[in-house]
Amino acid sequence: NGSVGSMGLSTLASVRPNFKLSAADVGGFVSDPAEELVAPSEAFRQRALVASRAQYDEMYKRSVEDPDGFWGDIASTFFWKKKWPTTEGKLYSENIDVRTGRVAVEWFKGGQTNICYNALDRHVEAGFGDKVAFFWEGNDTGVDATLTYKEVLERVCQLANYLRSQGVKKGDAVAIYMPMLAELPIAMLACARIGAVHSVVFAGFSAESLSQRILDCKPNIILTSSAVKRAAKVIKLKDIVDDALKTAAENGHSVGLCLTYDNNSALKREDTAWQEGRDVWWQDVVPSHSKECEVEWVDAEDTLFLLYTSGSTGKPKGVLHTTGGYMVYAATTFKYAFNYHEDDVYWCTADCGWITGHSYLTYGPLLNGASMVVFEGVPNYPDAGRCWEIVDKYNVTIFYTAPTAIRSLMRSGDEPVKRHSRKSLRVLGSVGEPINPSAWKWYYEVVGDKRCPIVDTWWQTETGGFMITPLPGAWCLKPGSATLPFFGIQPAVVDENGHAQTGECSGYLCIKAAWPGMMRTLQGDHDRYETTYFAPFKGYYFSGDGCRRDKDGFYWLTGRVDDVINVSGHRIGTAEVESALVSHPQCAEAAVVGFDHEVKGQGIFAFVTLLEFVEYSDELRTALVNAVRSQIGAFAAPDVIHWAPGLPKTRSGKIMRRILRKIASNQLDELGDISTLADTSVVDQLISLRGK
Ligand code: ATP
Ligand code: MG
Repeated sequence: NGSVGSMGLSTLASVRPNFKLSAADVGGFVSDPAEELVAPSEAFRQRALVASRAQYDEMYKRSVEDPDGFWGDIASTFFWKKKWPTTEGKLYSENIDVRTGRVAVEWFKGGQTNICYNALDRHVEAGFGDKVAFFWEGNDTGVDATLTYKEVLERVCQLANYLRSQGVKKGDAVAIYMPMLAELPIAMLACARIGAVHSVVFAGFSAESLSQRILDCKPNIILTSSAVKRAAKVIKLKDIVDDALKTAAENGHSVGLCLTYDNNSALKREDTAWQEGRDVWWQDVVPSHSKECEVEWVDAEDTLFLLYTSGSTGKPKGVLHTTGGYMVYAATTFKYAFNYHEDDVYWCTADCGWITGHSYLTYGPLLNGASMVVFEGVPNYPDAGRCWEIVDKYNVTIFYTAPTAIRSLMRSGDEPVKRHSRKSLRVLGSVGEPINPSAWKWYYEVVGDKRCPIVDTWWQTETGGFMITPLPGAWCLKPGSATLPFFGIQPAVVDENGHAQTGECSGYLCIKAAWPGMMRTLQGDHDRYETTYFAPFKGYYFSGDGCRRDKDGFYWLTGRVDDVINVSGHRIGTAEVESALVSHPQCAEAAVVGFDHEVKGQGIFAFVTLLEFVEYSDELRTALVNAVRSQIGAFAAPDVIHWAPGLPKTRSGKIMRRILRKIASNQLDELGDISTLADTSVVDQLISLRGK
């Protein structure tokens, strides 16, 4: 049978609803026999924190009808130096309607806490100091380290003491530009411990991008590392930081201190560029500090961090999150969406430079006392089996990654997966883009051996935590749907005129009412915060994404509304056409954009990446167009199929359709800023393939 060691799980069945399933089995909804439903097994359900649709419905109802009671109860399980005042019986205040004044959201205001204390000290004091916090796995196989909760706490304290000794105090910004060493989450926690505001910049961004972010948040100190080895390449991070600091200084902001972690396996100390007086080696100063450090108690509404969005769409925005609500929300979403249990080993492949690395690699899991893998490398180095090798090495039970990684692993076929046992896996997660049903199925069938539910989590940097996500065990899944809203989240599918629609519909995905984890403002630009997120649809938070709600109330993300294509009056989401293309067995990845079309208004231009070793051919071109015709309809059939050996992606792995639109319409001199691309050479490659 499919039982998995101590986890005691058995096979999750992939079912068709015309099997003998009752309405309760499928989560209380009626379904179309043509639709594929994936039900949790009985054994999984027995260990589920929310084990039925009815239990969810009841909890959800309370969360929206009585947010004070619902979130107050959960928040009470954390440590508060001073409890939030309950004088008026309300623990939050909100105005998200631009017609009734400035947008302002506060949760647990007046309460005092510290997220680092809750993530570390609390567990150590409760006797879990020897539990592993980080299984750190290096870029090269065989290089690893283990850190317990007590050890992480000690390192955090040493760094926090050092930062304090350098004059860093509550409210000061600290920039962090580091690779995925354990010191990266440690640095974030050290800032939080003393009330400093961390601003992590993904250490793949260019000097130009880093300097822009530094100029925006004006830190006096930056934490970095000499270099990092990513796959077979050494990247000299310190050189990039030097360039960025130079540009920042030329534009009016000098950073006085650059604390540099000596990563000597990647680069020797003597080969690292150095500026005396400004640069300090981490290992020379931090370890001599005390392993105990007093906590700075902060207000629930004091700023915890700034994080710039990835820039898929335009000028990066400095999203600001505060302490109390974010803490409660990140921890609660982690626990329920992954059905977390104390004996789990969790692995999120994101980098701390993204919101996923904040909420679900650092704060969420640590607040729950989880043991997790922190991986320095990339999923396909030294080969496409690396992830599953790591899963087996640490007996990972919960694995969380992005569709871009899944599609790229899929491209290499099943063998690298099947070579490894993966029997410890229990839950598989996805984030970042809509996951095409065919990638979903591959993830479910090949990676998870049809045993592990797929948790497709829809959320954003701005939302702080999951918004629409399955609670595995509570209802059936549909491949490609993020399913239902998390507790306290009230999605609204709004039409052009700002009216929320009912029943089956599609439109702009908005959220009614505030939730604890939402961002409070954009750094230094509250006007932009209001105009971007709250002005487009009055009374709602607007996500910028389009979605469809089906007859069962399930949500299907259709892509960014800026990317929607209008063909002869039909509004077509990019995700649906791309999913139809990717469903062809020889298609690995696809990106579609609109271009001006004399008759139809807009036509569909599809960029298609094939599986490794598959040749381009006219037959294949026709087959791909036919896949769209049969799955969506003739109106959505692509006008152009453009072969794409690679697609332009952001550094977080998302397809940048803005650039593809320019290539499709031949506006090659208007490509705009391509510096946030992970690999700019794919652009030239695509241009050279035009018309082929
Ligand atoms: P920018 O806002 O700077 O353009 P970004 O939107 O890519 O960058 P993130 O906050 O990291 O930055 O990503 C959030 C977006 O990612 C969502 O708005 C949505 O478009 C997409 N997304 C994330 N998770 C999912 C998911 N599970 N399904 C569909 N789309 C998703
Ligand atoms: Mg965004």
